[in-house]
Amino acid sequence: MMIIAREALRQIVDAAEAAYPGDCCGLIVGRQHANGTVEAVRAHPSANLRKQDKQFEIDPRLWVDLARALGRGPMKVVGLYHSHPDGPAQPSAIDLEAAWGEDLVWLIVSVAGSEGEEPRRGQAVQVTAHILDHGGRQFRELPLRTADWHVSPSRTLPEDAEEKGEGANGEGP
Ligand SMILES: [Zn+2]
Repeated sequence: MMIIAREALRQIVDAAEAAYPGDCCGLIVGRQHANGTVEAVRAHPSANLRKQDKQFEIDPRLWVDLARALGRGPMKVVGLYHSHPDGPAQPSAIDLEAAWGEDLVWLIVSVAGSEGEEPRRGQAVQVTAHILDHGGRQFRELPLRTADWHVSPSRTLPEDAEEKGEGANGEGP
């Protein structure tokens, strides 16, 4: 599961809408907990170094600067985010090809354009979190919650049940 600070999520959503019809991208700083939960605390926007072909490339200097600033403290770069203008909040084939680092969470914002308006304004319609799995060959979606989100007792969460199953004993038959 990824738990994201409400302010960080708002910042990412705002950046995705502001960049529309282009892509936004950046890094996410937070903590990785022993139980597998990833806590996203802050978003750090990056210039998109590759704007063509609906691709993105995070400025390598941002990685270096953040790594230096965070040092050996409890916080580190736990993930990255980018937007899919007029596309689903699912990792693309290009994303999978470019992805590396099995402990990095990929946050993707789907942005849809307003109808009948020129210029079209972007509105974020979905946000998902994925992590590389199966030796880096595919993405697995992680449940995503804001830090102030609480489980209602009556609500069932199939994602959580699935996680427990995996932790218990492999993938089953
Ligand atoms: Zn993508």
